[in-house]
Amino acid sequence: MVAPNVVAATKQRTNNTVAFEKVYLGLGANLNDPISQLKQAITALEQLGGTRAHRCSALYASKPMGPQDQPDYVNAVMELECELPPHALLDATQAIELKLGRVRKEERWGPRTLDIDIILFGDKQLDDERLTVPHYGMKEREFVLYPLLELAPELALPDGTSVSSLTTNVPRNGLEQIQ
Ligand code: ATP
Ligand code: MG
Ligand code: MG
Repeated sequence: MVAPNVVAATKQRTNNTVAFEKVYLGLGANLNDPISQLKQAITALEQLGGTRAHRCSALYASKPMGPQDQPDYVNAVMELECELPPHALLDATQAIELKLGRVRKEERWGPRTLDIDIILFGDKQLDDERLTVPHYGMKEREFVLYPLLELAPELALPDGTSVSSLTTNVPRNGLEQIQ
């Protein structure tokens, strides 16, 4: 039998440990040398405090959503472990977007130098004015699902849905690995 003071100490340590959550980020760009934009974003995310164990999918070329009179996109998904709270991670990813020159425009889904979306944050389900997680569009977007599966073929959503089952209704739509 474990002495009560040992149990208390173990609990204390558990409570003081900040948990790292497994996070998936969706990256996309279609202006100003998008491959270079993504590579700079990946480097910035690898250096972000409060995160570790970064892995990135291949880079993929994809067709634009919404307005078609814009260049094709380059997309990737990054996996990392994160001890930042979700909104602090959003602050950090938005700061990286801005640092790499993103200008927020009125047009939804219009061309952009860099977009970083939080796709999944562990098993968290969040919905407030700044953050919806899992990302509301992930189930329909080939440029999220296929790179995500490349990194984590067995991945499931917080509600238990397997990510691979979602691709049944989502064709690749010209998505191709470029490097
Ligand atoms: P979409 O969200 O359809 O991919 P977008 O990425 O172009 O479009 P943005 O202009 O980058 O949209 O973001 C608009 C707002 O979405 C942000 O200001 C942010 O507060 C909010 N947002 C909500 N959920 C998320 C999320 N999971 N990841 C990133 N931003 C989010
Ligand atoms: Mg987006
Ligand atoms: Mg975004």
